[in-house]
This record gives sequence, C-alpha cells and structure tokens, in this order.
Amino acid sequence: MADCLFCKIRDGQIPAELVHRDDHCLAFRDINPAAPVHLLVIPTRHIATLNDLDAEQSAIIGSLFAAIPGIAKAAGVAEGGYRVVANCNADAGQEVFHIHFHLLGGRKLTWPPG
Ligand code: 5GP
Ligand code: ZN
Repeated sequence: MADCLFCKIRDGQIPAELVHRDDHCLAFRDINPAAPVHLLVIPTRHIATLNDLDAEQSAIIGSLFAAIPGIAKAAGVAEGGYRVVANCNADAGQEVFHIHFHLLGGRKLTWPPG
C-alpha cells in the first residue's frame, strides 16, 4: 500500500528501530511508547484492520503469534509479563490502518484498558 506508514517502515522508506524480522512479520519500537517496552508487531502483508481478516489471512496472524514469545523474551519481558493488544477502527483508537499488535511490558499494567 503506497500510502501506508507501516508498509513504508517494512520497506525501509521510513526508519524504525527493528527488533525482529522474519518471512511473515516484523517488530519495531513504538515511536511514542506507553510502557518501558512498547513494540509493534505487524504482518509483512498489508491488511488494514482486523475486520479484513479472512480464513487464509488468519494464518498470517498465527505466524505473528509464533514469533511473539521470542520477541518478548528478547525484550526481557517474557517472565515478568506483557500484554498484546490490537485496536480495530475508531472506537478502539486505531490510527494506523495496517494491522499491528502492541506488545507492552516492563511495568505493571492496569486492567481494564481505558
Ligand atoms: P494504533 O493507535 O493504530 O493502534 O497504534 C499506532 C501506533 O503507531 C501508536 O502507538 C503510535 O505511537 C505508533 N506510531 C505512529 N507513527 C509511528 C512511526 O512513524 N514510527 C513508529 N515506530 N511508530 C509509530
Ligand atoms: Zn501497510
């Protein structure tokens, strides 16, 4: 997607602090972290929102979750704990329309989210 910020990060057109890349996904530091560890895990393939997932694409999401334990471990939050959250559309506050999972940790997180 030509106008997608995260596609541009994927393609190296916009710099980001990458912490992981494989055939299906990449992870990089959020530019405005809400916790000591705040990573964004995105599929390589552009999918705008969770509403756009179909049966085939949901396998891509599975591959993201295959990577997340290792990403969390490398970030030092696997044992202490972390949260993975995705915002879908306006009421959830989605700002970037390329599916991403926030991986948050490094502090005690409150529940429920606001
Ligand atoms: P959303 O609100 O769509 O779930 O989350 C978008 C996230 O992308 C926000 O947490 C925001 O801080 C982050 N973000 C926005 N622009 C950039 C950027 O240019 N680089 C990085 N690394 N993160 C960004
Ligand atoms: Zn995109």
